[in-house]
Amino acid sequence: SGVKVKSESVKNAIEKLHFLVVPLGSPGHYIPTIDLAKLLAQHGVKVTIVTTPVNTIRFGSILDQAIQSGLPISFLELQLPYMKFGLPEGCESLDDLPDLSLGHDLFLAQSSLQQEVEQYIERLNPRPSCILSGTFLLWTCETAKKFQIPRIVFDGMNCFTQMCNHVLYLSKLSFLFNSGSKDVKDFSEKLRKSESEAFGVVINSFYELEPKYADAYQKIKKDKAWCVGPLSLCHKYAAEKVQRGNRSSISENECIKWLDSQENESVIYACLGSISRIEPVQLIELALALESSKKPFIWVVRAGHKTEKIEKWIDEEGFAERTKDRALLIRGWAPQLLVLSHPAVGAFLTHCGWNSALEGISAGVPMVTWPQFQEQFYNEKLLVQVLRIGVSVGVQKVVHLGEEEKSGVVVKSEDLRKAIEMVMVDGKESEDRRKRARDLGKMANEAIEEGGSSYRNMTRLIQDIRNQYNTN
Ligand code: UDP
Repeated sequence: SGVKVKSESVKNAIEKLHFLVVPLGSPGHYIPTIDLAKLLAQHGVKVTIVTTPVNTIRFGSILDQAIQSGLPISFLELQLPYMKFGLPEGCESLDDLPDLSLGHDLFLAQSSLQQEVEQYIERLNPRPSCILSGTFLLWTCETAKKFQIPRIVFDGMNCFTQMCNHVLYLSKLSFLFNSGSKDVKDFSEKLRKSESEAFGVVINSFYELEPKYADAYQKIKKDKAWCVGPLSLCHKYAAEKVQRGNRSSISENECIKWLDSQENESVIYACLGSISRIEPVQLIELALALESSKKPFIWVVRAGHKTEKIEKWIDEEGFAERTKDRALLIRGWAPQLLVLSHPAVGAFLTHCGWNSALEGISAGVPMVTWPQFQEQFYNEKLLVQVLRIGVSVGVQKVVHLGEEEKSGVVVKSEDLRKAIEMVMVDGKESEDRRKRARDLGKMANEAIEEGGSSYRNMTRLIQDIRNQYNTN
């Protein structure tokens, strides 16, 4: 009859899908990947997250409640060989490193877990039905091939950025934007190849946000691209939001109390992501701009090993004293989701990392855009020119990670102030922008609800994996 008798193991895999999730060691990747794991589990998929001890606690504890309530999520915790790769004890994420030049060693240390992951897969019966991994983790491509498991990749970018990269690559212009060393170019080539061999790509975005780009990307991916975001919206409760990504440097109570004491849409929230280490001279420009805005503000102060220097300026140059009645300084990790979802927030000054940008969109907040490097500049274009919910501070220069000192001041306080004012001022233009942001926020929330576009895409992704086994 041509109908193949399925082995017991394949039959099990069909009945209960099991995804092995492998995140990349930086907050911008870990955070949305953990969210993705939760969403998959909510859709009935069993999920195992490959992690290392510090990261399990740091990024994984947000899942405690979900796991207790019975969602099928577990961790495969492996030891990261710090010593062997010259990493300080306990450094498992890019932002934990004392010096970003150790980033490559961290990457190698993470990649060295391949063998243990493969031993785990070997022991499993049935085998995992899918490997979902950070695009950069090229070894997962080998592992997937070895065990003939479909692999889905996640690089945390939206469809607009994917299409920008695609068009640049086709036009052979990408070298202009990627003038790195030969190693970097070789890696980019390998990355492209590994991505093209993947079963598909999962995207943290939603269809209604960028329909044209989503359609175009879907087409080049032959329908194996799934917009399932905004991922951050899988956390509904303040108690969860407050612990996303790290232990927050401010308590939920203190943060909410301060925000509650402010008028609606009056506060500027300024946070420049998890890994950028902006120079104190540049941070001072930002501080002065926030001060001259005359608005209440939250400023997340972090400058890596130079934090002390900026702290000193804040305290000794009178800034803290002058702004104490209207400023909340968060020194360290901010509970970003909690802040953004509060009605008092009127603008988000962001570095345009895609997680942050999409979190701003989900909260319906207009943005002041200040990209630093890589695809953050594409994200700015999407926010400012396509969606028209952001105002650019006008930065023209890329400040690569690790080159902050060399770059010095790239944006002047006056330019920052002007952009902030354009977003916060009363008037038709800013009202229209605010309305567009609010409408997108509403759409974002609808997209992940049952029946919404992202919800349906998640169902499609799961079905696509299931079909891999049904047709075998
Ligand atoms: N984040 C946070 N608190 C902070 C800094 C960052 O919760 O103090 C979170 C933020 O909500 C986002 C992620 O860290 O989910 C940063 O990712 P993004 O893509 O915005 O930027 P990256 O840090 O990768 O440059």
